[in-house]
Amino acid sequence: MSTRRALVTGGAGFLGSHLCDALLGEGYRVLAADNLLTGRLENVAHLRNDSRFEFTEKDVCHPADWGEVDYVFHFASPASPVDYAKHGIATLRVGSYGTFEALETARRCGAKFMMASTSECYGDPLVHPQPESYWGHVNPVGPRSVYDEAKRFSEAVTMAYRRYHNLDTRIVRIFNTYGPRMQVHDGRVIPNFMWQALRGEALTVYGDGSQTRSFCYVSDEVDGILRLAKSDEHEPVNVGNPSEFTILECARKVIAVTGSRSQIKFETLPPDDPKQRRPDISRARRVLGWEPKVDLESGLVLSLEYFRNAVPIQEISS
Ligand code: NAD
Ligand code: UDP
Repeated sequence: MSTRRALVTGGAGFLGSHLCDALLGEGYRVLAADNLLTGRLENVAHLRNDSRFEFTEKDVCHPADWGEVDYVFHFASPASPVDYAKHGIATLRVGSYGTFEALETARRCGAKFMMASTSECYGDPLVHPQPESYWGHVNPVGPRSVYDEAKRFSEAVTMAYRRYHNLDTRIVRIFNTYGPRMQVHDGRVIPNFMWQALRGEALTVYGDGSQTRSFCYVSDEVDGILRLAKSDEHEPVNVGNPSEFTILECARKVIAVTGSRSQIKFETLPPDDPKQRRPDISRARRVLGWEPKVDLESGLVLSLEYFRNAVPIQEISS
């Protein structure tokens, strides 16, 4: 049995659960800690009988003895704008107290550490595409600040643990990632559009749909995260797909892939919604040899079965 053991906070979430799978595939024993605020046990149900996997339902803002670990992946945090608007204080807490606790665990164990940061650190960016050297354009008191500033604080405290305690840290700046296991009702654009298209409802495009995003399929994202975990890169690294789409183009792609007859309707744009977003992935290419492989259309096709099955189930339980 492998002696390497990883702690994944947020391990029952969308990305955290895929990361647990990947780490088990790399030979780690994995402890997933999650308070199920926005995650679901179903995401790790397939690991129930794997003796190398443990799940514990806990709020990672509180001190805990997780036993000895070799790697801490701090992925706990609401991530959808709807979720973090609903759980604003909890988002700030997990980005501050939660990050301190995760770092302290790594420090106590002499473990490596990675935090899941975000393209939201760039806010509504004035530089396009966004390289890691860009410091961002963030409203510190607007409705998105509970997430953006929590993540910026998390990055700061992670770098401080590196500087002051010589901790072996990594920061991944994740750009919009999608795929199976996303909650159908978490309000993010791909689940919303998939759910609406599969039910024949109108797709809700906010604003005029000219704002852009660059969507990364989950297998590419996890591949980038693992490569960063194995690397010696301590500066933040963007991991996202640089192919950029307007939200209106995205809606049309979802309609095409699902074969839906849904129409498109336009609704109010939420405040501070970034107008454009695309990662500059030069650093990831150079230091990780990483390149996304799955384009948006293929990723939507790969996600279709999950959303087809999830729509009625989550509909009934919601
Ligand atoms: P998610 O909501 O599916 O997963 C987050 C998980 O964290 C959930 O299972 C939730 O229950 C758990 N959690 C929240 N607060 C907690 C706490 N105090 N204690 C224990 N568990 C807690 O979201 P996701 O998309 O999987 O995001 C995972 C991480 O990646 C987050 O840190 C997010 O900020 C980051 N990220 C994701 C994306 C994306 O596009 N998916 C983009 C940028 C950054
Ligand atoms: N969006 C939309 N319709 C929806 C959900 C989201 O037009 O039903 C837009 C949203 O305003 C934003 C983009 O899609 O411009 C991406 O939103 P999401 O919540 O997925 O993530 P964000 O990148 O804003 O964190």
